[in-house]
Amino acid sequence: MSLSRYPSTWKSLQQVKQAPFLFATRWGPQQRFVSVLSKTKTRTLGKTQGRVVILGSGWGGYQLLRKMNKKDYEVTVVSPRNYFVFTPLLAGTTVGTLEYRCITEPVRQYSKDIDYHQAYVESIDPEKQTIRCSSNLDDNRGQLFDLDYDKLVICVGAYSNTFGTKGVKEHGIFLKDISDAKKIRNRVLECFEYAAQPGVSPKEKAAKLHFAIVGGGPTGIEFSAELCDFISEDMSRLYPELVKDTRISVYDVAEHILCSFDAKLSEYATKKFTRRGIQIKTGIHVTEVGHDFLDSKEEGKVPCGMVVWNTGITANPLVETLDVAKDERSHRILTNDYLQVMDKSNNPYPNVYALGDCSTIQDNALPATAQVANQKALYLSKVLNDQIKGSGVVKPFSFRNLGAMAYIGKWQAVVDMSPVHKKAKEGGSLAWFFWRSSYLSMTVSFRNKMLIPMYWFLTYWTGRDVSKL
Ligand SMILES: Cc1cc2nc3c(=O)[nH]c(=O)nc-3n(C[C@H](O)[C@H](O)[C@H](O)COP(=O)(O)OP(=O)(O)OC[C@H]3O[C@@H](n4cnc5c(N)ncnc54)[C@H](O)[C@@H]3O)c2cc1C
Repeated sequence: MSLSRYPSTWKSLQQVKQAPFLFATRWGPQQRFVSVLSKTKTRTLGKTQGRVVILGSGWGGYQLLRKMNKKDYEVTVVSPRNYFVFTPLLAGTTVGTLEYRCITEPVRQYSKDIDYHQAYVESIDPEKQTIRCSSNLDDNRGQLFDLDYDKLVICVGAYSNTFGTKGVKEHGIFLKDISDAKKIRNRVLECFEYAAQPGVSPKEKAAKLHFAIVGGGPTGIEFSAELCDFISEDMSRLYPELVKDTRISVYDVAEHILCSFDAKLSEYATKKFTRRGIQIKTGIHVTEVGHDFLDSKEEGKVPCGMVVWNTGITANPLVETLDVAKDERSHRILTNDYLQVMDKSNNPYPNVYALGDCSTIQDNALPATAQVANQKALYLSKVLNDQIKGSGVVKPFSFRNLGAMAYIGKWQAVVDMSPVHKKAKEGGSLAWFFWRSSYLSMTVSFRNKMLIPMYWFLTYWTGRDVSKL
């Protein structure tokens, strides 16, 4: 299970190896010797049940960290970012409906009783029970160090899928993390400021103020809705002469938007979007994205100021390097019903688990959602905590589908809870109230439970902040 994403870091590893004084040693919870390939020594907390290393601080990793018994396990998180993002509200931060810090939770702040390293995991050695990490700090980026584990949980999520479309990585903007939300917010503001400058022709204005969203799934739809709210509620006030030139288009290869929702709700959302002037372009194959255009098989080159790309997920590079059983189509790690990672002959590793977007259960594919990651993390925390007590028979994981929700703009949402109750499908303001209150109740810290409604109120009362930072 090893291979590097950054060849340069292997070079630095070789340099470190040639300088033995840089090696430090550590005695793990089970008195195992491990080399640490940097000056940094890892902390030993001396817990009785050994070290559980969690890879990733997303929905899977963060929920697991919260629920693990930290008195008896030495819990260590390794993730390139030191915070959790509450993704269902990420679209709102792209236009300032909410501020970024309302939807993040710092990993270390949840409990003093954990260890955290800001790094990418580069490779995993299940025989030696070690992982190789590459620092993700500005001052020593790429510096390698090893950690040992007694139990390992892989929840590194997935990357955005471009389907190999030319120019997407260079010119498109994804919506996965806070940095993406910042990019989008600044780009929209840049386009408006550009269009407002003297000497800009009407043709140029129309091109800059055309915002294209590729992908009509819940993420693309929620972002389009937020953008439309922003333009109609704030930019129309600040740039009244430009609003007539502004256009939002949603492109999808499928015949409908929100395909995973009930057909009536998808139709409802389409009608609402059309009424608000958002163009829904279904059955379109995007072939290229450029700095200032989007090219498709059906429409040819269309000028635009920004392309936001949300067409699903592809495997994390770490997962690509692992020599374990994987799903043939999605390349996600294949686990058994107990979330254990399996070798290529489908024999489970007893102490290596995977959950969230990076994995899927053999013969029981579930959607890549926060709901699934969250339920799997709750299940695994219970299994691991019960192992301390040595209690009971372990039941396999079973998923309880609670349905799906999406914001569609202007105080409206669609809620499809038909898996819970056949008739529980709703579109409109009541659904919007349900959408907002359920996500608010799911946020983690008291601080964010206060900040989020406060920002919602401020947005309503004073409008969104349009500073380009
Ligand atoms: C804008 C948006 C809105 C969404 N809305 C919803 C919703 O309303 N409902 C819903 O159910 N789902 C929603 N989702 C999907 C949901 O966010 C994902 O399914 C969920 O985040 C998956 O959790 P995860 O822990 O597997 O991965 P993630 O949450 O993506 O976390 C992965 C973690 O792994 C870290 N990582 C990456 N590579 C490495 C590495 N090499 N080593 C160590 N760590 C690594 C990352 O930094 C991150 O901390 C939304 C997603 C987005 C992007």
